[in-house]
Amino acid sequence: MKILVTGGAGFIGSAVVRLAVRRGHEVVNLDSLTYAANLENVASVSNSPLYAFEKADLRDRAALDRVLSEHQPDAIMHLAAESHVDRSIDGPGDFIETNISGTYNLLEAARSYWVGQGRPEGFRFHHISTDEVFGSLGETGQFTEETPYDPRSPYSASKAASDHLVRAWHETYGLPVVLTNCSNNYGPFHFPEKLVPVVILNALHGRPIPVYGDGGNVRDWLFVEDHADALLLVLEKGELGRSYNIGGENEAKNIDLVRTICAHMDALRPESAPHDRLITFVTDRPGHDRRYAIDPTRIRTELGWQPSVTVEEGLRRTVEWYLENEDWWQPLLGRQGVGQRLGTA
Ligand code: NAD
Repeated sequence: MKILVTGGAGFIGSAVVRLAVRRGHEVVNLDSLTYAANLENVASVSNSPLYAFEKADLRDRAALDRVLSEHQPDAIMHLAAESHVDRSIDGPGDFIETNISGTYNLLEAARSYWVGQGRPEGFRFHHISTDEVFGSLGETGQFTEETPYDPRSPYSASKAASDHLVRAWHETYGLPVVLTNCSNNYGPFHFPEKLVPVVILNALHGRPIPVYGDGGNVRDWLFVEDHADALLLVLEKGELGRSYNIGGENEAKNIDLVRTICAHMDALRPESAPHDRLITFVTDRPGHDRRYAIDPTRIRTELGWQPSVTVEEGLRRTVEWYLENEDWWQPLLGRQGVGQRLGTA
C-alpha cells in the first residue's frame, strides 16, 4: 500500500512511518516541520526506496493537492497537528488553524483526489485523534466510542472539531474514513517538553521535576510503538465510518508515573539516586482534566489488537533510550519555548 502520512516527522507519526516502511508499505511523509518536528526521527528509514518526504503545510490547500496528485496514495493517515495542551492554553490560534482548518483542507483535498480517481473502493482516510475529546472522568468508568464529546482545553476542542469534520465528510460526501482516539503515548523520540521526557531529563540533570497540582491526575499510558501497530491495523481492517478507542489499560496517577521513572533512573544512575527527591509540585494547569481511561474492547474484540509491552517495560526502554540518545534530544532543548517548559529558561 502507498500511504500518505501527515505529521510523520513528529512523535507518533514517525513511529507510524518507521513501522509502515519496515512492513513493506510505501510512505510519503508530509510535514511542515514545526518546532515539534525532527527528521532525525525517521533517519532509520529515510534512505529506503519506499520512503519520500514532502515539506508542506496543512494550511496550504494547493500544496496538499499537488502532493496527492504527484504521489497518488492508496490511503491517508492524518496525524499532523499542534499537540501540546500547555501551548494551546498560551496561544490557541495555531491549534485552530492547523487542527481544524488544516483538517478541513486535507479532507477537501482528499475528497477531490478520491472523486478524481473514480472513488476507488480501497481508499481510506484515517483520522488520528485523542481520548481528550471525551473530557474528564470521575473515579470510575472508562471512555467508550459512544461517550459524548466534552472537550475542555483549546487542544482537545480543536481535535474534537476535527473528528466531527471527518465524520461529516463520511456521512455527507461518502469519503471512506476510519477514526481512532488514543490515550497518552510515551516512548523514544518524544519531544522533550512532554511529561515523560521532562521527568527523565530533569532527573538526569538534577533539576526540579515539576508535577502539576497534587499529582493525582490519572492518565492511561500506551507505548508509542504499540499505538503505531494499532493504527496500521485499523487502517487495513477497520470498518468504514467507525471509530476505535486505543489504550493500554495502564492507568496511573501522574505522581506514580513520575516515581516509576525515578526508580528506573535510580537503577541506571545510582550515583545520583534517589531521584524522587527532585519532585516539586507546581500550580495546576487551568482546566486540568482529572482522569482519562480508555475502554479498548472494540479494537480488541473486532480487530484482535493488544499491546505488546507493559508500561513497566515500556518506561524502562524509554528511560534507557533517552540516556543513550543525548545526540537526539540535546539540539532540541534550544528550540522555541522548550527550555522554559523544562524549567531551564
Ligand atoms: P507531535 O507534536 O510530536 O507531531 C506533530 C507533527 O505535525 C510535527 O511533525 C509537526 O511539524 C506537524 N505539523 C504541525 N502542524 C502542521 C501543519 N500545519 N502542516 C503540516 N504538518 C504540521 O504530535 P504527536 O504527539 O506525534 O501527535 C500526533 C497525532 O496524534 C496528533 O494528531 C495528536 O492529536 C494525536 N494524539 C497524540 C497523543 C499523544 O499522547 N501524543 C495521543 C493521542 C492522539
